[in-house]
Amino acid sequence: MKAVYLDNNATTRVLPDVVLAMLPFFAETYGNPSSVHDFGSIARGAMRQARSSLQTLIGAQFADEIVFTSSGTEANNTAILSALESMPDRNELVITAIEHSSILLLCAELEKHRGIKVHSIPVDQSGQLDIAAYRAVLSPKTALVSIMWANNETGTLFDVATLADLAHQAGALFHTDAVQAVGKLPIDLKSTAINMLSLSGHKFHAPKGIGALYLRRGTPFVPLLRGGRQERNRRAGTENIPAIVGLGNAAELASTELLENEKRMRRLRDRLESGLQREIDDCLVIGQTQPRLPHVLSVAFAGTEGEAIVALVARAGIACSTGAACAEGSMQPSHVLRALAVPDRFIRGAIRLSLSRETHGGDVDHVLEVLPAIVEGLRRQPSFNRVDHLPEKRSDRVVV
Ligand code: PLP
Repeated sequence: MKAVYLDNNATTRVLPDVVLAMLPFFAETYGNPSSVHDFGSIARGAMRQARSSLQTLIGAQFADEIVFTSSGTEANNTAILSALESMPDRNELVITAIEHSSILLLCAELEKHRGIKVHSIPVDQSGQLDIAAYRAVLSPKTALVSIMWANNETGTLFDVATLADLAHQAGALFHTDAVQAVGKLPIDLKSTAINMLSLSGHKFHAPKGIGALYLRRGTPFVPLLRGGRQERNRRAGTENIPAIVGLGNAAELASTELLENEKRMRRLRDRLESGLQREIDDCLVIGQTQPRLPHVLSVAFAGTEGEAIVALVARAGIACSTGAACAEGSMQPSHVLRALAVPDRFIRGAIRLSLSRETHGGDVDHVLEVLPAIVEGLRRQPSFNRVDHLPEKRSDRVVV
């Protein structure tokens, strides 16, 4: 059976060249970069090169503005907690209603246990931010604004450069979770006023468990992990050199082929989108009229359950995901789809197809062959929307 992987927003395949670049750093040149001997200096050199590749990918002015972390989640946590600690006279945060759970759940805890006021700015049906509401909450009490570059479920983009300027007018710091945007879109941080940016390797063909926080020079900072002098005192813990090398290598590959890949993925995504709209009536493409990531298609089919579609297309070798999360034992529309006020008849039938630089025209054809019949079948026999009979049982799952 043909395997078609269209869940690249969840994670991507590590590219073979990236694996090859990492291999020597496990068992040959395995030094600790803090050591003075040759093993250490080889590791330091590899880190320097990886930092410089990331600098190029995100257009940072200085390589030392990059701090390696264990993940996008760690980078997000670091940015928020650092801003609150380094600006103690400010105790408010501003986020949007559609941030990733690594921002939302941390903010909910800070609100509950630390008395931090969190303003969550709503979005409209197309995913655009309510700018009037944003301006209204910015104040001398705002420590940090954290607004994602691109949404992981819908691919819609926020104009973070402009939003950062507005945050600065209120004296606040600005952080962006760019985990889904880095490696997919051109990013030039030096032409913006963004203070901090989070990225994650496994979203652009590096391994899981490695990420980075961009920290603009001059931004006040308090580390999350303490206990060592690594990363210029900004993140303690012996560096994961093989993963850092993989991240640097993936960044280099992403930079050199960024525009070609962007164009190719957009063309394939648009073909998939128009094909599905042609073959299936009563479907809604979420964020269709808005600036979006080139490789993401969030689409909902009235009269279906996304969970059932995902399970049934999996039988035809297609991997994708649903816009639902498990809450209290049953599948509920995600916070993103609810915040976008996706109409009731569509909201349970949403799926996300996310392409990568490795996606081919044949993959799109396969989905176009398989998916319309599945949607039609579910509409004809609504009881099949209950997926209890399928081998994949519902469990505690979150939307990634
Ligand atoms: N932010 C966004 C928008 C994401 O999509 C994800 C992962 O799904 C993360 C943060 C977390 O990144 P990581 O998996 O590296 O912790």
